[in-house]
Amino acid sequence: MPRYNKLTTIQEDLANGLITCEHLVEYYLDRINATKDLNVYIEVFEEEALAQAKALDAKYKNDPTSVGKLFGMVISIKDVLCYKDHLVTAGAKILEGFKSLFTATGIERLLAEDAIIIGRVNCDQFAMGSTNENSHYGPTKNGLNPKKIPGGSSGASAVSVQIDTCLISLGTDTGGSVRQPAAFCGILGFKPTYGRVSRYGLLAYGSSFDQIGVLANSIEDIALTLELMAGRDEFDSTSSSKAVPSYSKDLNFGKKAKIAYFPTAVEHRSLDADVRNQTLNLIKQLEIDGHTVEGVDFDYLDYIIPAYYVLTTAEASSNLSRFDGIRYGYRSPNATNLEETYTMSRTEGFSTEVKRRIMLGTFVLSAGYYDAYYGKAQKVRRLIAEKTAEIFENYDFILMPSAPGPAWDIGAVNDDPVAMYLADIFTVQANMAGIPAISIPLGESGGMPIGVQLMANKFEEGKLLAFSKELV
Ligand code: GLN
Repeated sequence: MPRYNKLTTIQEDLANGLITCEHLVEYYLDRINATKDLNVYIEVFEEEALAQAKALDAKYKNDPTSVGKLFGMVISIKDVLCYKDHLVTAGAKILEGFKSLFTATGIERLLAEDAIIIGRVNCDQFAMGSTNENSHYGPTKNGLNPKKIPGGSSGASAVSVQIDTCLISLGTDTGGSVRQPAAFCGILGFKPTYGRVSRYGLLAYGSSFDQIGVLANSIEDIALTLELMAGRDEFDSTSSSKAVPSYSKDLNFGKKAKIAYFPTAVEHRSLDADVRNQTLNLIKQLEIDGHTVEGVDFDYLDYIIPAYYVLTTAEASSNLSRFDGIRYGYRSPNATNLEETYTMSRTEGFSTEVKRRIMLGTFVLSAGYYDAYYGKAQKVRRLIAEKTAEIFENYDFILMPSAPGPAWDIGAVNDDPVAMYLADIFTVQANMAGIPAISIPLGESGGMPIGVQLMANKFEEGKLLAFSKELV
């Protein structure tokens, strides 16, 4: 079986009888078995995926026009997305044994178009982290070098695509969790506008930031997946009712772009030299190609990370209060009364990083500190969103490295949470402002991939994807 990087190629080969869905799924299952050491899948839906593939082959044979738009698309899903009657744990012990009662709207819409879900992949616990090391199921390793992290929190989603165990993966992006692992694994990672895709069935981390995103090898697959997942959902009041364009049919940018970048970020000393040089080279190339690329001032870069970690931990402390040892998953066998059931289940069920964030979030929301921390961070968010919007009055896109450097060694930073938080510096702006963003492979540094990021104004994913197509 050849390596497929695009659904249209798979569908051509299906139509010409060169492959069947069943063979494709068998191939991916073999790949999953051969790459077990990387610790990508928490659970493989082997029999189910095969049965679904056979059923689709039969349906297609009977009437080729009866199959959905995603006929032949095999997907892995991050372990924070609900899929009815399947386990979902957010990579955490506290949800051990918990089965989804319903399917996330985004997934439901892909299944309706005959996508096949092949399995549930690892992630940082409750999507908190940048390395995939913070999982109850152990770290996932980067397929290009197993000593390296794949990024996070959708690290295993990125690796599942990188090592050809599925065509695309659904991840989630609260502060960069789709884009950063995509950059570290050498693939594409896309986060839509906040509200573009329903969050129903996404286990919440920071509800005002979370979005489902797509990790893939082609812009076409991202565009098609997005257009099928997006749109109003009565189960998520923050989902937008704005009409969903046919992104996949309109991937022609066809004009010259006006792009902004922040010299303070791109030229920063602390940036990996390869990231800096290759980003600056890209800027030069874009100018040679006739696009306008201009440095603009953005004085708020230093405030992005502190404000993000105040706001998301506040939201997380509230979202995660429901995991009490009574209603879901794990219950401590050592507790002897109700109070102990709460405290011991939570103490034993959450990782150190999750507990750190719950405590930080509880602190910034507490009566005496609310205005000083939470209130202030909300003001900073507003300012960042406004300043970002101002830039889009004059520019189509903002260009930025996806991360300050390439993937680091497993274990290298995990005793220094602040250093890890600071590495999110370039991805968090898009979540603070609620805008769409994509990470595109740019080159490499020390043998590991690096990415460049493009952001666009709210609901301009069509334009963003079309221009990105020119860069891949
Ligand atoms: N690394 C960031 C964090 O730990 C982003 C996580 C995410 O986007 N889910 O919060």
